Amino acid sequence: MHKKQGFALPRRTPAGKRLRSIHEIKAMASTRAEKSQDSAENSALAARLAREITGDAFFDAFNRGRYATDASFYQMMPHGVVVPRTMDEALRTLAIVRDAGRIVTPRGGGTSQCGQTVNEGIVVDFSKHLNRLLSLDVENRVCVVEPGIVLDDLNRQLKKYGLWFPVDVSTASRATIGGMAGNNSCGGRSLRYGTMRDNTLSIDAALADGTLLHFGEVPRDLARVNSPDSGLALFRDMLDLGTREAAEIAERFPQVQRRVGGYNIDALVPRNAANNMAHLLVGSEGTLAFTTQIELKLWPIIRNKVLGVCHFGSFYEAMDAAQHLVKLKPIAVELVDRTMIALGRDIAMFRPVIDATVRGDPDALLIVEFAEEDQADNHQKLKQLSELMADLGFGWNHPQRKWGGVVDVVEPLTQTAISDFRTSGLNVMMSMKQEGKPVSFVEDCAVPLPHLADYTERLNGIFAKHGTRGTMYAHASEGCLHVRPVLNLKLEKDVKAMRAIAEETFEMVREYKGSHSGEHGDGLVRSEFHEAMFGSRIVADFREVKQRFDPGNVLNPGKIVDPPKMDDRTLFRYRPDYRIGELKTVLDWSAYPGAGGGFQGAVEMCNNNGACRKLEGGVMCPSYRATRDEKDVTRGRANTLRLAISGQLGPDALASDEMMDTLKLCVSCKACRHECPTGVDMAKMKIEVLAARAATHGLSLRDRLVGYLPRYAGLASRFAPLANWRNSSPLAGISAHRALPAFRRDVFRTDAEAFGPEAGREVVLFADTFNRIYERENLDAALRVLVEGGYRVHLPKPADHARPLCCGRTFLSAGLLDQARAELDRLVTTYAPFAARGVPIVGLEPSCLLTLRDELLSLRSDNDARTISAHALLFEEFLVREAEAGRLRLPLGSMPAKALVHGHCHQKSFGAFKPVEKALRLVPGLDVEIIESSCCGMAGAFGYGADTYQASMQMAELSLLPAIRGADQATLIIADGTSCRHQIKDGSERSALHVARVLAMSLDRARPNSPLSSHAKEPIHG
Ligand SMILES: Cc1cc2nc3c(=O)[nH]c(=O)nc-3n(C[C@H](O)[C@H](O)[C@H](O)COP(=O)(O)OP(=O)(O)OC[C@H]3O[C@@H](n4cnc5c(N)ncnc54)[C@H](O)[C@@H]3O)c2cc1C
Ligand code: SF4
Ligand code: SF4
Repeated sequence: MHKKQGFALPRRTPAGKRLRSIHEIKAMASTRAEKSQDSAENSALAARLAREITGDAFFDAFNRGRYATDASFYQMMPHGVVVPRTMDEALRTLAIVRDAGRIVTPRGGGTSQCGQTVNEGIVVDFSKHLNRLLSLDVENRVCVVEPGIVLDDLNRQLKKYGLWFPVDVSTASRATIGGMAGNNSCGGRSLRYGTMRDNTLSIDAALADGTLLHFGEVPRDLARVNSPDSGLALFRDMLDLGTREAAEIAERFPQVQRRVGGYNIDALVPRNAANNMAHLLVGSEGTLAFTTQIELKLWPIIRNKVLGVCHFGSFYEAMDAAQHLVKLKPIAVELVDRTMIALGRDIAMFRPVIDATVRGDPDALLIVEFAEEDQADNHQKLKQLSELMADLGFGWNHPQRKWGGVVDVVEPLTQTAISDFRTSGLNVMMSMKQEGKPVSFVEDCAVPLPHLADYTERLNGIFAKHGTRGTMYAHASEGCLHVRPVLNLKLEKDVKAMRAIAEETFEMVREYKGSHSGEHGDGLVRSEFHEAMFGSRIVADFREVKQRFDPGNVLNPGKIVDPPKMDDRTLFRYRPDYRIGELKTVLDWSAYPGAGGGFQGAVEMCNNNGACRKLEGGVMCPSYRATRDEKDVTRGRANTLRLAISGQLGPDALASDEMMDTLKLCVSCKACRHECPTGVDMAKMKIEVLAARAATHGLSLRDRLVGYLPRYAGLASRFAPLANWRNSSPLAGISAHRALPAFRRDVFRTDAEAFGPEAGREVVLFADTFNRIYERENLDAALRVLVEGGYRVHLPKPADHARPLCCGRTFLSAGLLDQARAELDRLVTTYAPFAARGVPIVGLEPSCLLTLRDELLSLRSDNDARTISAHALLFEEFLVREAEAGRLRLPLGSMPAKALVHGHCHQKSFGAFKPVEKALRLVPGLDVEIIESSCCGMAGAFGYGADTYQASMQMAELSLLPAIRGADQATLIIADGTSCRHQIKDGSERSALHVARVLAMSLDRARPNSPLSSHAKEPIHG
């Protein structure tokens, strides 16, 4: 074994000292916290950390609050948070904090479901800076990583070598390898690949006293093991414990693959000549050592696979069938139950795959995955699966009880879609908007497969006995189902029911010789039950391990050994004293329960699962992708809001400077509204905060300039040269790096209120403020396309003739709700007669037009508003709808060019981006390529702010600007958003076009001499 001499921090706590219980620690911590939030002790610690490390050290309530929760129902406010820049800093933090008599909890993505990462003391976040792939040995399929690397990120880097790390947890987009090792995580394909423990070759880690050790495979006699004496002594003691307890371990450890509860002392027994000491650290939940690097075993990428979706008319039969299906050696058998299918059908992104793969009305599905090297073998397996199902008595035409069969899924995109649906299981379940939610505590018990059907049936009986019902999904092949009874943990009676269900369920699991902790770990929720499940002798062994590694109980105490009661409500996110004070809101939140007309319920929808921390794919959350700060992710914002409205951040926190800072980098892209699995809509919540802020603090000059743009834009354009003078002079809060869009005199203005053939199909064209004032060419082009298409285009004017119509977007972004409502009222009054007779209202600027589909309904719920909302379409949506109905007659000419397209975030959020692609594909010869981009970073006024410019450019540089710079000059750059076009211009010197202009160019190609041609000198109005 290889020696890691090192950096040994001074021992502070004498070995052999009794472990403090969590109650003592809590008492110490809370007394300390109460007495000395700003005490000399705390300030001294903060000052020392600030002096000695360059990473962030947070001691304020807002930042601490953001680290007080994970994906469990617990909450513990840490004293501070450190985000070290280097591993050396992480180790120095450990030493400093320990010297100050505090405890330390290492943290990765914070997605644990059992409360593993919540604690008093100091939380050390490894995810932001300590996330590199350190080395890769392709030939031997081994790599070494820092603990903060995210699984998907690692696999992206491995892909080009044909390798992957196959412990494919559902949270792969944000779970870190350090956290996965901490929890002994398991992927859906553990049948083939095993768990984290099976794929960890070695771990380098620091003990609480600072000793750095290499934990890897050692011979039992420890001959030639290269380790300091203290390390050798530790290994010796652990191996002796394994020898001493071998019989008890054999007797008490369940013989199922999914056993992650307790410490892995079974790794210490003398089975082979060698033992891997790293396996003791795997699953130790940050309680034994600080992991500094991990050596992983890699596997060849799966090249071929097929899925068989087995349908069952009864849940029991599905569970009973699992034991037979695994004999075909699939790599996974995953359960999807009736509840999940029903909830999934209500979620737009899952509906298509459910429609494509689910036949009839099954009670349960088992998704069976085969991944043989050769695709012909996979097809053969599918055939065998159908035969097996038939042998078991299932057929599509059988009466209800034996109804069932297999739907083959061989097409890769459908396979991915159904896998995404399955791995989103928890989130699909958590999308329930009611107060009661599926709660995780008997979440992942594992029983031997022959008992699975009886186990689930009895489990449903237990739930019913306690007045609730459960949802079930996931790893049928392992006998490890995710089961969550629906409970409201704000109610004492439901907390009591939780305890009773836990005790009865674990009793039953023990009867089946199963495991009470089969995937998600122990944390605060499960550790208490180790005594009942493993017996007191094994629990004493666990305590001995902890004592030997961490005698001062410095590392994440209260997990695995000496835990608190799982139903100690003082540790809950919703403690008994959790109350929402008076909460006045301005938007409609009535879809949710709770205070502020439902705002409380909307905020509490965040269950901390961390999907918003993904680094690639989709749009959510651009600010996090730019900064990687918990403050700048949807989860961090939702947690801050929850703490603020429940008075945990002091008075008036909702309108405070710290809250503004929390939301500062939120670009209101609305991606979370679409991509957050529970539908947290932070852009809408931000409007509430801005309104509260404007009401209590008034508006800054910049906010006024932004908000009131539609009101002064007309006047400014008349004095364009003068108004543009401010571009050459510094202006409050505007970045010196930005030129503001220039006002022009020839804004889009019409005397006529209708264009095109009188008998043509009618359409209203909404001339939004931005295109009207700054880029009339887009409106000219759109009008031309519609008129040439034979439509009767209305541009109705408001009755007050005071100023052109506007959607109120700029007022919304400044928190000026009354003004926004006033603009929308004018628009509704003007457009209502058209919408009432079914005339579509078509707009060009996504953020403006989609305001009619979104915020309008939060401000007005009357019939006129609903009708207008239902008829509001983006230009491309309208054209594609017409084309698909066979009504579009556009003489488009060939454009043999390449078009690189960036989608506006709001288009993506409302499922309106596909039509952009389709509309462009109407142009003959145009080669359309989509940029895989998140938000452009400009986002209205955001990119202009002196304080947000940097983040704005970081967002643009993630993928958008590099993609554009990589395109040749002949390539057309397409972007429908005004802001996006400005960002592209500023960042790449390329001019992007609205789709309307591309279509107009195509019309030119077909009819260059048309009087409507864009080559003609005069526009068709002016
Ligand atoms: C929706 C959802 C689905 C999930 N699906 C799965 C699944 O399919 N399979 C599964 O196994 N789990 C699953 N989980 C649980 C969780 O996502 C995994 O356990 C994940 O691996 C945790 O990774 P993390 O980076 O978030 O770790 P964290 O939650 O941040 O930490 C986990 C543990 O590791 C410790 N730790 C972190 N870094 C270090 C370090 N450097 N040194 C020492 N200890 C450290 C922490 O103290 C903590 O005890 C799911 C959770 C959710 C919310
Ligand atoms: S905001 Fe949504 S995606 Fe992010 S943690 Fe909360 S629930 Fe999950
Ligand atoms: S609106 Fe966009 S930037 Fe704001 S939290 Fe949601 S995803 Fe992040």
